[in-house]
Amino acid sequence: MPEDCTACGTCCFSHLAPYVVVTGDDYARLGDEAESRVLFDGYQAFMRMESGRCAALRIEGRRFLCSVYETRPDTCRALLRDSAECAGELLTKGDRPLSALRARR
Ligand code: SF4
Ligand code: SF4
Repeated sequence: MPEDCTACGTCCFSHLAPYVVVTGDDYARLGDEAESRVLFDGYQAFMRMESGRCAALRIEGRRFLCSVYETRPDTCRALLRDSAECAGELLTKGDRPLSALRARR
């Protein structure tokens, strides 16, 4: 288990375009950031993805930081560190943040 989520970032990675659902409440909470961060697909909305990860994920040094942390969607809030879902993320995608760090060198 990583020391904290900023040393991990795994659950912010996905190759799927429709990944983090953005509800109406989420959209409203994102405020001024909403328009640039959210992608609409018909009647549904999702966080915009880029290079296999949520476009709101900022990589600084070896840290993975959510640039909309205070206003992030409920889906992100619900995924608790050290939960079964977190373990599933690490099991299936745990190598991706490391690959992203390597690709930046
Ligand atoms: S919730 Fe789990 S998978 Fe997500 S960043 Fe934190 S430790 Fe990593
Ligand atoms: S909104 Fe933040 S916590 Fe949620 S997937 Fe994107 S970068 Fe990760």
